[in-house]
Amino acid sequence: MKLITTIDALPPALSASISTEERTYIEGIAARSGLPFAVTSHFASLAGPEPDDPIRRQFMPDPRETQCDPFALNDPLGESCHRATPRLIHQYADRALLKTTAHCGGFCRFCFRRVWVAETARGEWMAAPFITAAELEPVLVYLKDHPEIREILVSGGDPLTASNERLEWLFQGLREARPGLRSATPGLREARPNLRIANSALSLRICTRLPITAPDRITPEFVGLLRRFSPLRLAVHINHPRELSPKSRNALTAIVEAGIPVLVQTVLLKDVNDNVETLAALFRECRDLGLIPYYLFQLDLAPGTAHFRVPLKQGLALYRELQGTLVPAPAGTELKDDSSSVPLIPAYAVDLPGGGGKIRLSEESIAGEEERPEGRVYLLKDRNGKLWPYPVE
Ligand code: SF4
Repeated sequence: MKLITTIDALPPALSASISTEERTYIEGIAARSGLPFAVTSHFASLAGPEPDDPIRRQFMPDPRETQCDPFALNDPLGESCHRATPRLIHQYADRALLKTTAHCGGFCRFCFRRVWVAETARGEWMAAPFITAAELEPVLVYLKDHPEIREILVSGGDPLTASNERLEWLFQGLREARPGLRSATPGLREARPNLRIANSALSLRICTRLPITAPDRITPEFVGLLRRFSPLRLAVHINHPRELSPKSRNALTAIVEAGIPVLVQTVLLKDVNDNVETLAALFRECRDLGLIPYYLFQLDLAPGTAHFRVPLKQGLALYRELQGTLVPAPAGTELKDDSSSVPLIPAYAVDLPGGGGKIRLSEESIAGEEERPEGRVYLLKDRNGKLWPYPVE
């Protein structure tokens, strides 16, 4: 996949909009070991030249990335505490996350894996762009030994940066670790791709942003590949209604019409989507396309991203207002995949910093507040009542 990595390769209006300060910063990133600058031509074409344009802000390096954030964590989700193999993270009992690659269709400036992605882009973490057979082998052994894992999140980076052939090889390997799926009636999965087959041992959730940043990647061949590996869901990262370009709409519609459930994950970002009008428009449009608004994430504490952080209390107020604006789904239907009960409002959630896992956010999540050497924090309660700090501002 060809990415734009220099200012001069941007569309002329965007390139002309770069300030001297931004140019100096972008040209010095490699020397400073920061997250590289990279964007697809499609995503760049959606951006306006104004510095506060919500699409531009998501990919344009910002000198504020160098500001010291006392709360920043190199591994904000604490994934290293739950690493089962170098590529597999097993944090929740019934599902695990596979880091297939650190390549993406451009780099989001708020990326929560930015340290890993940046290290990999510089070749410091691994040489291979996509998981190798030697790296997959221990994953398959682990899956055979852990039948409680029912779902694999195929993540990265962005797995769709790999070819269909590589993905097919990977999906096949994962499925062969759980031969239970073979007992399905021949042809049934092809005829009814949405059907969850009883006793199928492993479903796949493919986490990607490429339907938004590079919609041409969603070819009929790729959609056919997804259908062959049902049960499978796509989790697409979408932050702003303007990201739903005609090409992206067509790509997402093709996936939905093939019977593949598409979940939407959104990151709450300051000066990008932190207002009710933008979020309501996004979730309405997603639902109209047959997508399932699934999670609205509070920002993780990755280094160099504090200028994207919406204060937690403000996020809660925004979410309350959103609930009053959009018609909520009937109680208990939030996580269903069938389109008849598609919710309009995703769950507002945070990954507790340092490995506490995901929790849904509400006023009740905040058990208290205290002063720490790094600043004032809320104490957020996990499912077991354990308290985890998250910055007030
Ligand atoms: S697509 Fe995901 S992994 Fe890639 S840069 Fe964006 S947030 Fe990070």
